[in-house]
Amino acid sequence: MKLYTHCSGCGDEITIKSSATDRRKLKLEHGDQIQVNCHHCGKKEKQHLNKIYAEINSLHLFIACAASVILSIVIWLAFGVIGTLLILIPLSLWLYQLNATRNFNKYFI
Ligand SMILES: [Zn+2]
Repeated sequence: MKLYTHCSGCGDEITIKSSATDRRKLKLEHGDQIQVNCHHCGKKEKQHLNKIYAEINSLHLFIACAASVILSIVIWLAFGVIGTLLILIPLSLWLYQLNATRNFNKYFI
């Protein structure tokens, strides 16, 4: 899951590095506001947690898909059709991220 907000100066997307899975945990880490720094225009500002949004991290999904395809081929060659079950790994990761993203964006402080 990727957390982001938008710069009030230039509107560029600012990625927030945190392992928080919902706004309550983000509030425990940072309080009601989080200090962000726009890499596009250099503006430093505090954003309220309700202006932080979550989306599925497509890089993690791509890595999981690529790894499962490679592992599926190797295991399929060695053990047969059972190797195709590894395709469930990126599917379960996608479902997990979809649920986490939905829960994050649904709960406001
Ligand atoms: Zn900016």
